[in-house]
Amino acid sequence: MKLILNCKNCRSEIELKYPVNDRAELARERGDKFSLKCAECSKENKYNVNEVKAKESKLIAMIAFGILVFGTGIIGYLLKDYLFMPNNPYNVLAIGGMLLIPSAVYMIITKQERDNARRFNQYWI
Ligand SMILES: [Zn+2]
Repeated sequence: MKLILNCKNCRSEIELKYPVNDRAELARERGDKFSLKCAECSKENKYNVNEVKAKESKLIAMIAFGILVFGTGIIGYLLKDYLFMPNNPYNVLAIGGMLLIPSAVYMIITKQERDNARRFNQYWI
């Protein structure tokens, strides 16, 4: 997830690059109030830790989607000799497994990311 603040001067998004899991950890690392300089307008303002918002990371979503696409492709490639054989009773199982594993990985990663952001946003100090 990524942590963002809106600049008090120009309203543009400022991304906080701290590897924390929740707001309490952010407060421990940076204090309840901290100063931050906006990259857009170069104004430095004081922010409260409760003004920080968490967002799902686009990068994580892209990685998860990559796993879904490439995982399905790789498993499909590995199983190519078994797939689409006429009269193979395991066709359905093979195709199901091929789609299931990467989809499960995709869902676990995106759900975790969503849960992390939600937990951060629901917890106040
Ligand atoms: Zn600004």
